[in-house]
Amino acid sequence: MRPDDLLHPRPEGLYCPPGDFFIDPVRPVERALITHGHADHARSGHAHVMATRETLDIMAIRYGADFAGATQEAVIGETVTVGGVTVRFHPAGHVLGSAQIAVEKEGLRIVASGDYKTRRDPTCARFEPVACDVFITEATFALPVFRHPEPADEIDRLLRSLDQFPERAHLVGAYSLGKAQRVIKLLRERGYEKTIYIHGALKKLCDYYETRGFVLGPLAPATVETGKKGDFAGALVVGPPSAFADKWARRFPDPVACFASGWMRVRQRARQRGVELPLILSDHADWDELTEAIATIEPEEVWVTHGREEALVRWCELRGVTARPLNLVGYEDEAE
Ligand SMILES: [Zn+2]
Repeated sequence: MRPDDLLHPRPEGLYCPPGDFFIDPVRPVERALITHGHADHARSGHAHVMATRETLDIMAIRYGADFAGATQEAVIGETVTVGGVTVRFHPAGHVLGSAQIAVEKEGLRIVASGDYKTRRDPTCARFEPVACDVFITEATFALPVFRHPEPADEIDRLLRSLDQFPERAHLVGAYSLGKAQRVIKLLRERGYEKTIYIHGALKKLCDYYETRGFVLGPLAPATVETGKKGDFAGALVVGPPSAFADKWARRFPDPVACFASGWMRVRQRARQRGVELPLILSDHADWDELTEAIATIEPEEVWVTHGREEALVRWCELRGVTARPLNLVGYEDEAE
């Protein structure tokens, strides 16, 4: 069996003909295997969805309990057969519940890693390298200029700014699934014990992380209707990036606009968004993590998708590893 016969791109997403299923399809399909709960990977309307318990729960929180016709929980590390194809989910280290999906038939194994990072994250299981013939990797930050700093150092910069400007509210933009909870958890790890104020859009997901055993400490709604502006002097407020463009953000006293994203490495992006304190904090692998993952896994072949494919393909070729870009459409490199 050739790798292309086991998995190949279709307009709906990555398709497995012998198993008759798609991985992270962007259009409604009969059978979908889903790597994680971010909206561009996990869409509603499939007839049948297989994903980890957490990803299924997250989809239900975001789309409602009827997000799919039927669901099936994939237990990490357990082997299941889908239409004659062996399937196993492995941790991807991206967000809570995120998984790589290994598909295998006739001795050929392909790992579709979805989005991943290999460094430690206190809010999800760590990435596990899985031996395979073909490794499908994301390429969101696949340029040597992207080297993410230590998350603890970025959080310490935020804490220093809080000390320095006790009259100002610090508004931290962080995507509502994964990044927001990670920022909160990292703040706790760095010793911040005060109440953290959260935008309403984060509440259900923060509550869900708590039910899965991720203690986020004291959180309170960031609503100013009932109080005065001054109530949030010195406060730390976390909200989805989209909320910062609207009226909500202007209610806070002399806010310091912060944004937690791997894109904050690019100064121009921070400036365009009016970010005063950029925090380089990413849930995607940086250049070193991508190349180390490939060097560790030692696949015969690498397929590179959503992002800056060329540089990583070239890096693989220089090491004698066959590589090619995989043209999958519908995934957003901004959503991190
Ligand atoms: Zn993602």
